[in-house]
Amino acid sequence: MRYCTKCVMPDTRPYMKFDEHDICYPCRAAEHVKKTDWKTRWKELEELADKYRGMNGDYYDCMITASGGKDSYYQTHIMKEKLDMNPLIVSVDNFTWTQTGHHNWDNLRTEFGVDAHVMSLNPKVCKNLFRKALERLGSPTWYFDKAIYAYPLQMAVKLNLPLVIYGEDTNFLYGGPNTEETPSAMKQITNDVVKPVPWDVWLDDTVTMKDVNPGNFPTEAEIKKVKLTPIFLSYFVPWNGYKNMQFARTRGFKTLDDTGEWKREGFLEQYDQIDSLGYLTHTWFKFPKFGHQRVTEVASLYIRDGMMTRSEAVEKVLAEDWKLDRRMMTDFLNFISYKEADFWKVVDKFANRDIIEKRDGHWRLKKNVEAALRTGGAVTP
Ligand SMILES: [Zn+2]
Repeated sequence: MRYCTKCVMPDTRPYMKFDEHDICYPCRAAEHVKKTDWKTRWKELEELADKYRGMNGDYYDCMITASGGKDSYYQTHIMKEKLDMNPLIVSVDNFTWTQTGHHNWDNLRTEFGVDAHVMSLNPKVCKNLFRKALERLGSPTWYFDKAIYAYPLQMAVKLNLPLVIYGEDTNFLYGGPNTEETPSAMKQITNDVVKPVPWDVWLDDTVTMKDVNPGNFPTEAEIKKVKLTPIFLSYFVPWNGYKNMQFARTRGFKTLDDTGEWKREGFLEQYDQIDSLGYLTHTWFKFPKFGHQRVTEVASLYIRDGMMTRSEAVEKVLAEDWKLDRRMMTDFLNFISYKEADFWKVVDKFANRDIIEKRDGHWRLKKNVEAALRTGGAVTP
């Protein structure tokens, strides 16, 4: 195991690659992005918008996938206000919401004046599949994530809205199997957020293919027929989550700090993915498996954007990244009707003992791993 010497990302993240200087490729990608000619990219985006604007007469001319988060505000601003498109917002409903998230979602539609189409997944099916995915994959919200990726594309085909707007290219910016910089979001499903697991693994007498329609991708033939063109906006305009949050706040978006609703433990910020209570239990599971989760990811972004030094990031990661927010976990366990003791047994099953150890009753990075995090480079046994 090794740590990037520039940011705080470890190579235990699936598909993560380091160069010969022990620098991770998202850090290299960030350097590359800084040299981008954004004027040319913006022209490319304008040309795309020109091509699709009015393609359906007075009907919508593009789709924005959104949850009401800070990035949704920026996406909607760019497409509707800057490029004069008539977008339809498509979203997959959270299984449980924060009040702040509700406010942000309602305010997004009111502030920008847009229609939204929401798919609310069958809660019974979600509970069933979340439980199975927790126990078998250690990725509890597999089905929900799959629907988030598949459902908008499915609808884009049905509604003849080939231009589908996504925010950031997480593979290129955070690390994953698809590392080349590309405007197309077509390969997004293979970005490892949703593990490639066939439906057969989950289906039985209790859940059948009839129950999982929102999680199905359009077929190759359907994609070809409408010439589906999903794009990452982060290819065309400079992308910075913190700046997007600042922009969104000028349009009525509220952070958890603004509302005081909840101070999340195990987080570096209180503005990203704040619409759902239990959802990020899924993300926390990276810690027992790979020894890092949200704090490492966000701190690494902050370092790359010059908002934090590496040593500040190290301290934040050591202090926070292992923590599982109690309210988040309780909400998730209530939703799937799961006992906390059983949940911790599952965590123990997935815990990578090469990286973490139990200290004071908590899974923490091993001391030699913490030492490598501090210096960057390889973990010494
Ligand atoms: Zn790095």
